[in-house]
Amino acid sequence: MELGRKWVQLVIAFLTNGYWGFPATRTIYQGPLKVVCAPGLNCYSCPAATTYCPMGALQQLMLSIRFNLENGQYFLGWYVLGCIGVVGAFLGRLVCGWACPFGFIQELLYKIPTRKFLVPRPLRFVKYGMLFFLVILLPLVVVNEFGMGITWYCKYICPAGTLEAGLPLLWLQPELRQTVGLLFYNKLALLVFFLSWAVVASRPFCRVACPLGAFYGLFSRARLVKLQLDPAKCTNCKACHYVCPMGVKFNESPEDAECITCLACMERACKFDAISLTVGGIPLRAGEVRKIVVEKTE
Ligand code: SF4
Ligand code: SF4
Repeated sequence: MELGRKWVQLVIAFLTNGYWGFPATRTIYQGPLKVVCAPGLNCYSCPAATTYCPMGALQQLMLSIRFNLENGQYFLGWYVLGCIGVVGAFLGRLVCGWACPFGFIQELLYKIPTRKFLVPRPLRFVKYGMLFFLVILLPLVVVNEFGMGITWYCKYICPAGTLEAGLPLLWLQPELRQTVGLLFYNKLALLVFFLSWAVVASRPFCRVACPLGAFYGLFSRARLVKLQLDPAKCTNCKACHYVCPMGVKFNESPEDAECITCLACMERACKFDAISLTVGGIPLRAGEVRKIVVEKTE
């Protein structure tokens, strides 16, 4: 299953970054697919990106809400929020585990053989602050000297944007290099920091600083597809704790907002069949499904 998940990550990374004409055009793709929202963090301005990024779009939505209200227009265009809301309600952070190119990159970096370290659990709250302040509040209320709002997270933080858009565009458009300043070097330092951290710790950016992970995490209890614990079968052996890439102690917190449904605990750790993948509360494993059908017909 782990190999299957890697293939899914690879295919989705290629589908959301499937425009390979950019070395010739030297600019970003702006064709008809660019109205589609990518499920994971994937920069709109990446030259190969065929879709737009949900977090960039959410900040744009906040800017447009302020602008529209100031101009007496009450059509607020909740399309983006609707898209990621539906994905979140169905899948939650399963998207992080299966469909986010930046999560995939971090997983590959973590395979480099070095000494590994834990990510302190309290740092997970930082990403909720990023979501609230940098993605929602500041784009909604702060304007610059020209009366324009700013996409704060994209402009000051997003390492995925620096990797997928900032660096490739500097390579494709040499004239842009004259505009590089302190802001870009700050973002480059953040990118190097998170990529280096990902070599020695599992998915640090997803756990600490990703506002999309924070958003999808809000659906951890309500989402349709999730893992379930059977307390009657759990022996409290704690084997699931040691395989989790997100630091979740599954048997203690089966609806943890950090769970990316990578299935490692179910597939590789639990020997007692205490963990099952469920859709709308119905276990997907054939044996379990058969059991439910038999019980219902008795
Ligand atoms: S709790 Fe299990 S499925 Fe969730 S992230 Fe950890 S190992 Fe993966
Ligand atoms: S590995 Fe299975 S039995 Fe062991 S603590 Fe986790 S859920 Fe319980």
